[in-house]
Amino acid sequence: AVASAAVLTLSAACGDDDSGEAKTGSGSVKGKIGVILPDTKSSVRYESFDRPFLEQSFKAAGVQYDIQNAEGSTQRFQTIADQMITGGVTVLIVDGLDSNSAAAVQRKAKSQGVKTIDYDRLTLGGVSDYYVSFDNVKVGEELGKGLQKCLGDKAANIAYLNGAPTDNNATLFAQGAHSVLDKVANYKKVAEQAVPEWDNQKAATIFEQMWTQQRGKIDGVLAANDGVGNAAVSILKKNGEAGKVPVTGQDASLQGLQNVLDGSQCMTVYKPVKQETDAVAKLAVSLLKGEKGEATGKVNDPQGKRDVPSVLLDPIGVFKDGVKQVVDDGFVKQADLCKGA
Ligand code: BGC
Repeated sequence: AVASAAVLTLSAACGDDDSGEAKTGSGSVKGKIGVILPDTKSSVRYESFDRPFLEQSFKAAGVQYDIQNAEGSTQRFQTIADQMITGGVTVLIVDGLDSNSAAAVQRKAKSQGVKTIDYDRLTLGGVSDYYVSFDNVKVGEELGKGLQKCLGDKAANIAYLNGAPTDNNATLFAQGAHSVLDKVANYKKVAEQAVPEWDNQKAATIFEQMWTQQRGKIDGVLAANDGVGNAAVSILKKNGEAGKVPVTGQDASLQGLQNVLDGSQCMTVYKPVKQETDAVAKLAVSLLKGEKGEATGKVNDPQGKRDVPSVLLDPIGVFKDGVKQVVDDGFVKQADLCKGA
């Protein structure tokens, strides 16, 4: 049973058609679902998982769709949104680059009668109808618990490499991590910085400066995702310290899992993205059909001073002994993990 489930998910990940073109469905449903993904550099997830999984769901539902990637440009994000609305999109799924530009897109969509769903990142001050994500404070708690497990409770200097300051998730990850690590009496925060755009090169530069400033007296690195974590690992390698200083990560990317297996990264957080795409696709299809969407809870937007009907999923902390679970789930292939290892 495990094997067949794995095959199913894998074939989805290798999506046979990723043209991103709108497809004509059964013909009974009018309108189209638009999806705007943020970039291709901050994480491999968007093009490797989110897009193919969403395509699979929309095809199965027989609805028209259009999936685009803003490639890190807020201007491109806006242009794509305008084109989608003109092109007949009636439900727009938004994974924003920053809250201001995403909120502007949502307001425009709303003025045209287009429903919007915040996907993965909540748009602060936005007007979305729904929000679908993982519980991002919990993701941060998993990062914190993970680092604590790898460090033990002995005295330790901790450096924090947070995500993009414009990404509300990054705030929640840091909040969750601090809620765990700040309680450990022997831990001391010696450096903390946000990595603009989650840019991996900037992360390496920032971490190298931290390392120099602390004269190498950093015992653990709370890195917010695998890309940022790998940047820290690369600097630790240069200093002959990789594997000795635990580093965290998120996304269960191939690189992250390989680092976990070779010991240069202490853990990663696996978010079964298929659950997230399934949830958002289900909601979007309901809205497309003019039905009410099903939310399981609410998330507060402190800036917009409103509660957004939400679906929040559970993240999973993964250490060396948990990598097999990610493979069994079909998220990565064993053969790929072994390449270059
Ligand atoms: C997502 C992470 C991702 C990061 C960088 C966050 O908002 O939740 O999965 O690694 O952005 O793209």
